Amino acid sequence: MTPAQKQYMELKSQNKDCLLLFRMGDFYEAFFQDAKTLSKELDIVLTYKDKNCNNPTPMAGVPFHSIDKYLPKLIQKGYKIAIAEQIGTVIPGQLVKREVVNILTPGTFLDQENKDYNYICAITSFESNEGNYHIAYGDFSIGEYFTKSFIDFEKFLNYIIKLNANEIILDIDFLQKQELKEQIKMYLSSLINIYDIPYDSESFLKNNLNVESLDGFGKSLSNPRDKSFAMLLNYLLNTQKQSLKNINKISYISEDEQVNLDQNTIRNLEIFKSSYEGDKKHTLFSVINNTKSGMGNRKMIDIISNPIKNIIKLNKRLEHIDFLKNNEELCQNLIQEIQKLNDIPKIISSIIYKRNSPVLRAKLKNSLSTIFNKEKSKILEYIQNNNFENININQEKINKILNFFNKIDIAISEQANENEYIKEGYSEIIDNARNLANNSSELILKYQQEIVNHTKVNAIKIKYIKNQGYFIETSKKDCKDLEKTSNVNIDKFDFVRVQTLKNQERYISTYLQNIQEEIFKSKEKLVQEQKKILENLLSDITILNQDLNELSEGIGFIDIFTNIADLSNKNGWCKPTITDIDQKKIDIKQGRHPVIEKYLPINENFVANDLFIDEKSTIQIITGPNMGGKSTYLRQNAIIVLLAHCGFFVPAKTAKISIVDGIYARVGSGDIIAKNQSTFLTEMIELANIINNSSEKSFIILDELGRGTSTYDGVAIAKSIVQFIAEKTKAKTMFATHYHELIDLEKKYKNVKNYSVAVYENQKEVVFLKKIVKGGANKSYGIDVAKIAGLPNEILNNAKKHLKDFENNKINITATPLFEFEDKSKQDNEELKKIKNELNNIDINNITPIQAMQILSKLKNI
Ligand code: ADP
Ligand code: MG
Repeated sequence: MTPAQKQYMELKSQNKDCLLLFRMGDFYEAFFQDAKTLSKELDIVLTYKDKNCNNPTPMAGVPFHSIDKYLPKLIQKGYKIAIAEQIGTVIPGQLVKREVVNILTPGTFLDQENKDYNYICAITSFESNEGNYHIAYGDFSIGEYFTKSFIDFEKFLNYIIKLNANEIILDIDFLQKQELKEQIKMYLSSLINIYDIPYDSESFLKNNLNVESLDGFGKSLSNPRDKSFAMLLNYLLNTQKQSLKNINKISYISEDEQVNLDQNTIRNLEIFKSSYEGDKKHTLFSVINNTKSGMGNRKMIDIISNPIKNIIKLNKRLEHIDFLKNNEELCQNLIQEIQKLNDIPKIISSIIYKRNSPVLRAKLKNSLSTIFNKEKSKILEYIQNNNFENININQEKINKILNFFNKIDIAISEQANENEYIKEGYSEIIDNARNLANNSSELILKYQQEIVNHTKVNAIKIKYIKNQGYFIETSKKDCKDLEKTSNVNIDKFDFVRVQTLKNQERYISTYLQNIQEEIFKSKEKLVQEQKKILENLLSDITILNQDLNELSEGIGFIDIFTNIADLSNKNGWCKPTITDIDQKKIDIKQGRHPVIEKYLPINENFVANDLFIDEKSTIQIITGPNMGGKSTYLRQNAIIVLLAHCGFFVPAKTAKISIVDGIYARVGSGDIIAKNQSTFLTEMIELANIINNSSEKSFIILDELGRGTSTYDGVAIAKSIVQFIAEKTKAKTMFATHYHELIDLEKKYKNVKNYSVAVYENQKEVVFLKKIVKGGANKSYGIDVAKIAGLPNEILNNAKKHLKDFENNKINITATPLFEFEDKSKQDNEELKKIKNELNNIDINNITPIQAMQILSKLKNI
């Protein structure tokens, strides 16, 4: 092995779980298996070192200047990448020192374009009063962290799945490590690292957070959550290879604050992904999220996935939205201002951890200049006049940020690029250096003219070649004339020949060398002096990043409030009245499903529907034909309840909603074939989860439950679930089903109410009105649905015949008929059966009046 290979092997052995990119001159090279991976994933050439030997080393490389293009691709595929840079100056013939300066991982990658959260989560298990499972998680790219404890494994697992972290750090001593790993792998594609907790977590944290005591962090870092956070921090330190200067916030998430909203419900309500091929367009999030900044976008995700029970907070949010809805001009102005802003927290992290880039600086400055624009800025005014939850941007903070802004404002120019970024007039040294560097061509041209005048040779040129510098060039024919006028005593004309080419001769002079040196020096100076100023600004940003992030969070809130206010104005949404959790009442008038409504064909109108639930009517059973609008009705109400718990306006005319402790949505036969569970089993597991976690304060929608099994099983299970909820949990429940057998439960339980979707029917056609009405349905209209779908008449007519046969009981079917449930008890009655048969056999069009009389007499006899 060569010394460089040895060096490579050593670094690789220290970073076994990473792809090692080894800087060699202008390239990052990968070797052995890493090279193969790199070549495959990036579609670049795989070559071999020492091709002719027995066992050539595979290698692949990317140019250093285009590394930023390749890294996101690798990260997205879930790789960890260790970057080994050359340290110190390169001396030819000597091995240059190399060090891994940074480890890039999915959970720590700083990506300016990504507007979503990028969570990294550390998981530990310790027995304590507050539970056995403890997590610390956060978004490294914005410096926001959280901790939480769980008593219940299921709840803990659900939370992890919902969090959808890109990277997970799992304590090597975690109790059910293998089980958890398998579960996580089933639902998420996160990179999982097995890791250690630092030996003395408390002092480790004190050292790294620069505090005397952890008391100030309250519950967020109290035992044993301090261990989870210490593990997370240790991992981050190890990837960044530098102290963490951007930790803005560590909050404890308490159980009492949040409304239970698990991942299944998020999926079934199609909040972030539609169930149809997981597209993002037909989702609640895409329909209601029109935020303009990364700050608003992230906060929106956060609020929707974590609805809260705190009425005071919810009403505050609603008041803001209401105010902005009624002040349209202000609202629009704010929206326009926010639109101009860059993702401030991401810029700050990138400046701190990645590169103190002047371009990012200029972006930050331009954003701040929008915010601090004295005449026009509405953002600042709004933030100062209002408190959002835990955000308090007081005058002192404003002044600090303003000072910081003024500092970069006078230093950094608006059109900064990586080479030139310090404003003119900021530093005399820089201005002079810049003048000289920029005016070098003028200086050279002037000198060239002087030589022409002096030598009388017109074809003389001063040229520049990289690595060689400036020189005077003449043709072979003219060189005599030039040399003739050379004068050792005049530094401008003391020409010395340095190079002879086929057709040209090249010379230098003392003067040329002097100006060359000066030009180089000033270029170097320009780089150095600019850099010095930039470096000086760095310390400010690390001191101020907490305030800047708080400001950004405030802007995130305004982004959301203006967004919802605007949306409500345009779509006629209303401010819900939130009432106490003990009132257990939901009263929605003319509610709509925002997503279905938005994508309805132009000639169709959405039919609004009411919902009323109180203690006397906790369970609604909704029956009716397929395509009648049952599922839509269920989901729209769950969405309205969810939006109310976000503190948002809702798609309804009016809405009075009591706080709920959980929102659950389950849909029959959800397909998770890939996860190797039968759909029915999945359905039942999901159901068990609700039954075990819900209370009379929860809101549940159950859509077509029990469909994944035989009809008898299905009805039996569906029925007993309704019974259980009616008697035991008493949760506010909406139950849509095509099992008409369920409607007799209304008679048995006072709190069960029947509803159905209205159908308009005449001889010719059947129209589904999508209107929910009182009372159960007694017919299923399956064939009418088939007709709407465009099945050939032959099939429809045949089906009608079969249906008749079923109705006449001529044919035994294993399934219970879907109608005439009420008559079932009478089915045993033989006489009635006979009468029915007789009636069915009459062909009215083909009998004479006499025959009619005979039949009537026969019927009477029976
Ligand atoms: P079901 O669950 O009863 O089979 P869905 O709720 O799936 O019916 O509704 C079927 C279709 O009817 C939906 O895709 C939607 O296009 C339309 N729809 C549902 N509810 C309404 C409504 N209230 N107003 C207008 N169209 C609706
Ligand atoms: Mg349905």
